[in-house]
Amino acid sequence: MAAKTIAELDLQGRRVFIRVDFNVPLTPAGGVSDATRIRESLPTITHAIERGARVVLASHLGRPKGRPRPEFSMLPVAAYLAEALGQDVVLADEPAGDGAKKVVNDLRDGGVAILENLRFTPGEEANDENFSRALAAYADVYVNDAFGTAHRAHASTVGMVKYVSNKGMGFLMDREAKMLSKLLGEVARPFVAIIGGAKVLDKIGLLESLLGRADAVCLGGAMANTFLCAKGASMGRSLVESSKLPIARAFLAKAEASGVQILLPRDLVVAEDAKALAGTVVSATQVPDDRAALDIGPESIAEVSGVLARARTVFWNGPMGVFEAQPFAAGTIAVAKALAQVMGGTTVVGGGDSVAAVHRAGVASSITHISTGGGASLEFIEGKKLPGLAALES
Ligand code: AMP
Repeated sequence: MAAKTIAELDLQGRRVFIRVDFNVPLTPAGGVSDATRIRESLPTITHAIERGARVVLASHLGRPKGRPRPEFSMLPVAAYLAEALGQDVVLADEPAGDGAKKVVNDLRDGGVAILENLRFTPGEEANDENFSRALAAYADVYVNDAFGTAHRAHASTVGMVKYVSNKGMGFLMDREAKMLSKLLGEVARPFVAIIGGAKVLDKIGLLESLLGRADAVCLGGAMANTFLCAKGASMGRSLVESSKLPIARAFLAKAEASGVQILLPRDLVVAEDAKALAGTVVSATQVPDDRAALDIGPESIAEVSGVLARARTVFWNGPMGVFEAQPFAAGTIAVAKALAQVMGGTTVVGGGDSVAAVHRAGVASSITHISTGGGASLEFIEGKKLPGLAALES
């Protein structure tokens, strides 16, 4: 059966365990530096509070590697949340154990508690049975609103779920699943994918699945360097994943056979390194030996913008260059702006860097859907069933 949403679950007086994605960036002083992920789950949390639930929140934060580390405590998250909700949020001093049990048992209807960082124990990522059972003991109802970790089979996203019969998606999870589903199956054409960033292996599964579905795939970023190199271009000191050249060649051959248009950059902005104050534009086949390609050039921008101007469905993941450095941000910002011009179609952006670029370009409100999940959105669009979503079906 399809997964229910929290709106369909009976919450009154029950302990409602909500797996949230509060893996937020922190300031050096230990405050929350970007609360977007917390804000995205507020509708789910407030709904549960208003229905008289005893709300138990749980998330991971950073990479404490299976042991308690104070710098990854949920304390700043609990403080932010208390302020945002205008009510107390009790922080358990551990993800599971007697202390956590007491905090959960002391909850009143409409009250909110948050468990300490789930990754303070190795049982979370190992999807350990004992840890799964311990978490399930805090839940009369299980809700998953952590789309960003739905592609991981961990104790809090999969292991514990089989022990709780009342379960469903939070509003954020539901919205992500609905919006990303629009890119699977029948789509308005042309369907264009823009894939940038650095890691070929992370995205090759998606690229291959797009061959059967997209009309054009535009490659950018360091990813494109590897594909250009696979086609015989000399890339100087550019970031190229040499070990992935065979994968890149095989993909290009498959693409040619499938008739999907693959657009590689025609020109590139090169410099000594990403610290340079400016770059120069060269042909994409002739990066000088002592230079690295750090952004797509103006001809490439014009070509991608032209393809986007005709597109009706677009998925974008990964920057076109080292966009964190101002001199090499133009390609990525131009793609964000061109995406915002797509008329009457569906535009979806996934992945931290592309999402940041859309905000930086000031066009977020013109995008159909900005996903909160990087890896999760890639796997969803690839057509994979996400374990965290599958666990909610019964
Ligand atoms: P990913 O996580 O695979 O989406 O990669 C994102 C990272 O790729 C960002 O930190 C970018 O700075 C980096 N990147 C994009 N283009 C280039 C490039 N041409 N050279 C080096 N790094 C790049």
